[in-house]
Amino acid sequence: MHDTEQAPQRFSVRGRLLLGSDLTHGAVVVEDGRVVAIVREASDGNLAVPILDAAIVAPGFIDLQVNGGFGVEVADDPEAIRALARRLPETGVTAFLPTLVTAPTALYPRAYDAFAEAKGAPGARPLGLHLEGPFLSPRRKGAHRADLIKAADPRILDCLPGGDVVRLMTLAPERPGAIDRIRALRRQGIAVSLGHSDASFAAFERGVDAGAAMATHLYNAMSPFAHRAPGVAGAALVDDRVTVGLIVDGIHSHPASVALAVRAKGAERVVLVTDMMSAAGMGPGEYRLGGQAVTVDDVAARVADGSLAGSIVTMDQAIRNTVAGGGVTWAQALRMATATPAGILGLDRVGHVRVGGDADLVLLDEGLRVRATIIAGRIVYSQLDTTPS
Ligand code: ZN
Repeated sequence: MHDTEQAPQRFSVRGRLLLGSDLTHGAVVVEDGRVVAIVREASDGNLAVPILDAAIVAPGFIDLQVNGGFGVEVADDPEAIRALARRLPETGVTAFLPTLVTAPTALYPRAYDAFAEAKGAPGARPLGLHLEGPFLSPRRKGAHRADLIKAADPRILDCLPGGDVVRLMTLAPERPGAIDRIRALRRQGIAVSLGHSDASFAAFERGVDAGAAMATHLYNAMSPFAHRAPGVAGAALVDDRVTVGLIVDGIHSHPASVALAVRAKGAERVVLVTDMMSAAGMGPGEYRLGGQAVTVDDVAARVADGSLAGSIVTMDQAIRNTVAGGGVTWAQALRMATATPAGILGLDRVGHVRVGGDADLVLLDEGLRVRATIIAGRIVYSQLDTTPS
């Protein structure tokens, strides 16, 4: 891994740019951390030098669900978030939501403090926590601990500090108090995703009516589609108000299920999430997730009962998997990791290549492999032969 490098204040990046839903030849000019121009007819003569060339220039990837990775787990230690911020740019991720699985009540305030302490860390931007739980269905707990779901204390949401410490919460809409909780979260500007849910179609729709706009890892840990009881999966697929998260690691969903989601929702309503846990970026072995032992082989992470315990896929690999198996274009797959997750969070300065936006960019080769990652105009990771100086 390369250390953080100081880029020149003004430079250009040239290649096929992800602009809206198309890849278009051109270049972006970066100055003082922002995109200041997009040049369609880019030549050496009309661009700010130095010029970086890449096959594809995309907005930095945004991952809404990062439980851990590179040997660390999101909990109450700010160093775990700092370590993720440092390492995620290797995978093209420039902004992320550190994601806390269902935890003991006492841990929540400590997790908020840890986030507040780490949020300015160099590297990928920690945008806020994703609280996955604790108000979930014990029947669809996946790798979350049933005892902690049963003991969930509503007061964990009473002590939220300001400053966007929590950005997204996953809950089950059929649990007692869920509808009021969704409304209260929305009033605080926190996005709500429905998941780990055994809801009926109707109960899911009540959650969306109350303000939820997403379904957490479609198909996994939710009531499945059946023709007379479409469940959470069916409701999430047909309701156009809902964006679905998808873990495209080749394990969590069959390629046909990925293709079905894309056909039903379009790239503008599918968000690629990694659901990475601590073993991502490491190797097979024994790890931990939310206080449980997890066994990791070459492709999957599982707790003792066999439930999947998050994934070991990285975002760049998830994008390649989506292109290979989901019947989508490169531009569509890239959009699912950029503009679509930015939209869920209501952000417009990231997730797009746009004049005035933050210069968070990923340079990719013809195999959609990460060649360099730029955050706020700084090259934070590079495999390029030449780096401007
Ligand atoms: Zn989950």
